[in-house]
Amino acid sequence: MLVGVVGGGQLARMMAPEFQKLGIEARVLVEESGSSADQVYGDVIVGSCDDMQKLESLASDLDVLTFEHEHVPNEQISALERAKVVVYPCSSALIYAQDKLKMRKKLMQMNIPSPQFSVVNDFSGIIEFAENIKSDKVVLKAATGGYDGKGVYVFDIRRGADELPEWVLRGTELLVEECIDFSRELCALVVRSNAGELVHYDVVETIQRGGVCKTVIAPAPNLKQGAVDFQELAQTMACSIAQELEVVGVLAVEMFQRGDELLVNELAMRPHNSGHWTISGAVTSQFENHIRAVCGLALGSTARTSKWTVMENILGQEGTNLGNALPSALEIDSRAKVNLYGKSACSGRKLGHVNISGEDLSELLSVSGRISSVLEGKK
Ligand code: ADP
Repeated sequence: MLVGVVGGGQLARMMAPEFQKLGIEARVLVEESGSSADQVYGDVIVGSCDDMQKLESLASDLDVLTFEHEHVPNEQISALERAKVVVYPCSSALIYAQDKLKMRKKLMQMNIPSPQFSVVNDFSGIIEFAENIKSDKVVLKAATGGYDGKGVYVFDIRRGADELPEWVLRGTELLVEECIDFSRELCALVVRSNAGELVHYDVVETIQRGGVCKTVIAPAPNLKQGAVDFQELAQTMACSIAQELEVVGVLAVEMFQRGDELLVNELAMRPHNSGHWTISGAVTSQFENHIRAVCGLALGSTARTSKWTVMENILGQEGTNLGNALPSALEIDSRAKVNLYGKSACSGRKLGHVNISGEDLSELLSVSGRISSVLEGKK
């Protein structure tokens, strides 16, 4: 069996050992030679993910094509499908992870609670929306192309049009959303195979810094609050989205908890940062289950192997030198598993993560925080 993966980042890199273990051959299309995934695959094509010729070379003789990101133009995926390439998730599902406006409309149609939203073309549209929802604070989002908080901007309309960032109202469709005053962010990760089998991991809490995920706690603490079972609520929503959209592979559903309700923020149809804990904290990792799903194999158990697992991202900053910091970081706690992505350090970039599992959550948070600080080069 030969699987093609579009993307040269850490998600494709972390699929590599799972391909090896299952004896499945893989070919990747990476944007740059020397990238995170390029370092670990033998069969590599270097090129842009919107270059049709490169996509066709990647697709030649494949059994299935999948992705580590959502940036391949949807028309090009459809063209591959018309040429009988098997693509999972397919273009008709992936569109809802590529276009936040289409996603919002679809969720509304499905009666899945989400932030109120509108599409605007100018500043007066932003003001009108803010007046309608009776709030000065709104969230502006590029409908397409954003990631890791890029393309998301919390805006107070009292600051006026001159304070809008460069990318807003510059051609791309602009989504304006109600700014949710959430108590925390949760993520439900489910995996659906091309045979329709559906499994789910425990719901996790994600903590962001500057719009970028920093910490994940698996499972999210206090999922049962009074009469509300947030785990059940989140998983039911995620499973119905996976089924309705016929997603094949991993589906991550990011949500806001506000009072007793959960509102869906975002969908991702690929292994997701909120699922890195599964590499050491679950029987089957999200990367293995994504591969099993797109290859039509039975899915593996998603059961946790520890009471708690904490995942802490290592985010680059001024002074980060992973090579120098690694020896001290590994001395901190022998239970910790450090996973570095082979990327050069630059500010805010995800360079790796640390997973640690055990019984005492506050201790795990403190240890993972210390290890990531040492690796990031903080004093
Ligand atoms: P990206 O696609 O860049 O990951 P998201 O839509 O997931 O963008 O937004 C990134 C982060 O911004 C979220 O995790 C959340 O912390 C914040 N955010 C996004 N939308 C809203 C909203 N409507 N209300 C409040 N915070 C939001």
